[in-house]
Amino acid sequence: MTSKFLLRNLMRGPLTEPAPAADDAALAELAARVNIAARARLGRTLSIREVDAGSCNGCELEIHALNNVLYDLERFGLRFVASPRHADVLLVTGPVTAHMREALERTYQATPDPKWVVAVGDCARNGGVFAGSAACVGGVSAVLPVDLHIPGCPPTPTALLRGLLALLQIA
Ligand code: SF4
Repeated sequence: MTSKFLLRNLMRGPLTEPAPAADDAALAELAARVNIAARARLGRTLSIREVDAGSCNGCELEIHALNNVLYDLERFGLRFVASPRHADVLLVTGPVTAHMREALERTYQATPDPKWVVAVGDCARNGGVFAGSAACVGGVSAVLPVDLHIPGCPPTPTALLRGLLALLQIA
């Protein structure tokens, strides 16, 4: 029985879905526009500090995808930084939990001007599926001034990139 099971698993192909095809031309154009807009607005590249204020991590998975080999956005001058003191943009996910509220406020205070806050995902807008929970204080705008909201549950990496471009155009 065990050997049959092992043989069957050895013979069949992977169960994971194939990676989506990258639309390289469209992605490169979009990322290049972000880079040009960042240089025009900031005189340099765009630095982002990601803050998980209480998300389910679904939004983080899509944000992390911006750094994978498919998107590799650092080549276009868009980079994530470890400290808010080096950031232009705070990318905030999730509903803001009561436990994360102070950390989010302190991260905002530590970010130098000019700075922008982007609320990522449906939870960041109004609490999403967590709205009404006693553990949450609401969307990001309940705590910080929000410059842009990128909708989705979760938003795709391309939607995130479009949002950052929109931010640079309105900022
Ligand atoms: S918007 Fe969706 S993926 Fe993002 S934190 Fe909320 S439930 Fe999770």
